[in-house]
Amino acid sequence: MPSLTRTEAVARAALLRVEAVDVDLDLDRGDELFGSRTTIRFGCRTPGSATFVDLRPRALHAVALNGTPLDPASLADGRLELVGLLADNVLEVEATMAYSHDGQGLHRSVDPADGEHYVYGHLFLDAAPTVFACFDQPDLKAPYTVAVSAPADWTVLGNGAATVVAPGRTELATTLPLATYFVTVCAGPYASVRAEHDGIPLGVHARRSLAPYLREQAEHLLETTRACFDYYHRLFGIRYPFGEYHQVFVPEFNAGAMENPGCVTFRDTMIFRGAATPDQVISRSGTIAHEMAHMWFGDLVTMTWWDDLWLNESFAEYMAYRTLVEVTEFTDAWVEFGIIRKLWGYAAERAPSTHPVAGSPAPDALSALGNFDGISYAKGASVIRQLIAYIGDEAFVAGVVEHLRSHAYGNGDLAQFLAAMESASGRSLAAWSRAWLETAGADRLAVDDGVLNRTPPAAHPADRPHRLDVAAFANGRELARVDVVVEGERTPVPGIGSTPVGGLVVPNAGDLTWAEVSLDPATVAALPAGMADLPDAQTRTVLWVALLGAVHRAEIDPRIALDVFAEAWPHETSSAVLSRTALAMTSRVVPLFLPQGEQEAALARVAGAADALLHRAASVEGAQGDALAVVAARVWAASGCEVDRLLRWAAGDGIPTVLDGDDDFRWLVLRRLASLNALSESEIEIAAAADRSLAGSLAALGVRAVRPTAAAKEWAWSALHDDTHLSNYGALAVAGGFWVAPDPELVRPYVDKVGDLVLTLSARMGDDAVSRVVAAIHPTRLVDDATAASSAALLERDDLTPGVRRALVDAGHELGEALASRRRYDGGRS
Ligand SMILES: [Zn+2]
Repeated sequence: MPSLTRTEAVARAALLRVEAVDVDLDLDRGDELFGSRTTIRFGCRTPGSATFVDLRPRALHAVALNGTPLDPASLADGRLELVGLLADNVLEVEATMAYSHDGQGLHRSVDPADGEHYVYGHLFLDAAPTVFACFDQPDLKAPYTVAVSAPADWTVLGNGAATVVAPGRTELATTLPLATYFVTVCAGPYASVRAEHDGIPLGVHARRSLAPYLREQAEHLLETTRACFDYYHRLFGIRYPFGEYHQVFVPEFNAGAMENPGCVTFRDTMIFRGAATPDQVISRSGTIAHEMAHMWFGDLVTMTWWDDLWLNESFAEYMAYRTLVEVTEFTDAWVEFGIIRKLWGYAAERAPSTHPVAGSPAPDALSALGNFDGISYAKGASVIRQLIAYIGDEAFVAGVVEHLRSHAYGNGDLAQFLAAMESASGRSLAAWSRAWLETAGADRLAVDDGVLNRTPPAAHPADRPHRLDVAAFANGRELARVDVVVEGERTPVPGIGSTPVGGLVVPNAGDLTWAEVSLDPATVAALPAGMADLPDAQTRTVLWVALLGAVHRAEIDPRIALDVFAEAWPHETSSAVLSRTALAMTSRVVPLFLPQGEQEAALARVAGAADALLHRAASVEGAQGDALAVVAARVWAASGCEVDRLLRWAAGDGIPTVLDGDDDFRWLVLRRLASLNALSESEIEIAAAADRSLAGSLAALGVRAVRPTAAAKEWAWSALHDDTHLSNYGALAVAGGFWVAPDPELVRPYVDKVGDLVLTLSARMGDDAVSRVVAAIHPTRLVDDATAASSAALLERDDLTPGVRRALVDAGHELGEALASRRRYDGGRS
């Protein structure tokens, strides 16, 4: 199916004006298919000319343009030619469509807990034509009037307010102009909590089997929502325009959430059924704030073409953290940003697929999907912080408001955004934009004897100005902190001399800019003993990110990172830092960067650190102690090797009380047991029977795949390859466990089969879903030259979609990083 090109989109936008779209969906026709009738009223600026409508039905029954029937058989490659257009046209289309099972289009799934069916629409980025006929591009906006037939006991939600007009029939109020990719319908026996704030009707919804958790957590979700509405109303001076505001937590959702105006969809793992650590709650609150920021930036003003997708995401990402800090209890949210989001972004920046924040060419719609990465989110948000430091917050906010006002209900692009910022600040931003937005790469910052050296990456040279701070520490005390304006390559930092003995000097200590921080040898030497004493969590974050980055770049021995972890981690207080650094150790540093022969002992050190934190948690009162205990127990469950203790924990014996009855935690323990080959098939059966929830079913798949036996790996591979009913989440669960094997020979025979599996999955799933699975299918854990060669050979195929190619390039790059590190620090031993 060809993806819409930018050239085609420009021509069609110049020709057409879409006045109104009516969509009528029949969701009461069984599990596989649904009915779709569309009526599009549109004007044509050059009557007599031709265009095409986008449509990907299972069966096309009837099409009429201005009352004249067209031949349904003329539909080819998802396009139907429309010729002889009038100044004003009516297109009527009747089709049968197929539900998806990969989270793209109209996704339908069955909740294994109770057999109930759920449907939600995720039309981003180009799935709208699988649901209704449309001109599928972001700058042909129109008001939508949607009606839905569905089983009478279902709740139907969408962009416009829902009215049940008859049993099983719901009409949604006509919307303001929306881009096609924002249209959604969520339908099923969803459980709901409704409220109101400042005249805006609110609702939070989740599967019926999650109802008790939804009810328990609704007040927190709504409290965050209310605080964000008040803040954005105050900041932008523009009221939320889209009527009601529903937040629907839906199953098997690929991304975190999607900003459909009036009806935001979230992955429903964000409704916690077990213990949630503060970083999980911050992350969920940040997602709420992020999607709400999109109501203005993205929804009210939409990018003209997909190449400016960053503008939506960078802005919403920045705004989410700013909002959390200013109006919620999460005043330290930038720590979460630093350790979770920026670590993701710096990895994207190191990869060969890195690209400028803005202006990455998107010759067709699908090629833009790859830019939904750590660059568009984490780097983009960091660059916006630098923009604010450069022009001042007042000018920034004024520029944003001007941009929103001048393009409301329409579209905008980078040039128009920058023009608004220039007019608000009175400064030219051409050079700034070239350096920060239009050039890829991160500068390297290092402090040497009181001078801050900025080294631009050789591949992406640019004169990036930075506003940042540098701090020096000794014995847990901050000796100095100096604000620095970096304009050249060498900037004196008065007050910061050479690194004190046993002390640390930290460039970018407040994490204000986007740069690779290079630590001096004395600071690295002081890290194991000195990290835990540093009073500022933001600075500890910068140090962790610098350390892990240096491991990936083969500039620091991974054993040093392990030493720092063993010493400093049990004293850490931020749950975001604790969770993310532990994940880095158990999923990257140990299995990829350390040789096989050292991995067991290294994991034992990780488990030892987890035990030390468990011990400390017991002496901390209340919620804070519970949060530490949860993180510590999860890390031990992922790294501990004592089968007896794991078996006791699986039975709920000896675990922190906060985890009593926590099914997700029990699955974590079972997964570890299975990976140690200490869990039988019948024990997995019993566990799965005891937890019939969706989360439990997915966990059981992962547990089966992780077992280190030839039979288990064979089962996992054929499940991925042959089970066409495996959902996007199911495939991810199986793939995530497959390569875990204490003896690499067990999985080595599959390395050469990866290409075939990738293509099989790619034929079955959309690009967004499959690229996530492909990242897990890549044999990154087999760190040797043969695997690297096999990985490189995959890229020689010319039948890969852009998303799949990108996932393979990035995974292959990480394997290359691990190989380079092992060559440097182990002399090539594996
Ligand atoms: Zn977003």
